[in-house]
Amino acid sequence: MTTIKTTCSWCGDVQLTPADLALELAPSQDEGNYRFVCPSCTTVQRRPANARVVSVLLATGVSYEVINPDPITEDEIAAFAAALAAEPDPFRLLAG
Ligand SMILES: [Zn+2]
Repeated sequence: MTTIKTTCSWCGDVQLTPADLALELAPSQDEGNYRFVCPSCTTVQRRPANARVVSVLLATGVSYEVINPDPITEDEIAAFAAALAAEPDPFRLLAG
């Protein structure tokens, strides 16, 4: 069984299994965070994971989810609105 050693803010060094951790990844980035529930004090902890940590955790079978806090930017909305305004038949955009 793979064990992953990390640190709890309250307890210090703790050992986890891949099932205890979850990766939070941002789209199109190779870095993110991982979170785990401390087996000793049961608080949820979150730690930054650089690219190397992410690849190691994925290799050991840690589940992950893609977090997208800002899926559409103001610029994209403005560009879309401008495209609609410039388009005499907006429904053609949808059909395309
Ligand atoms: Zn703890």
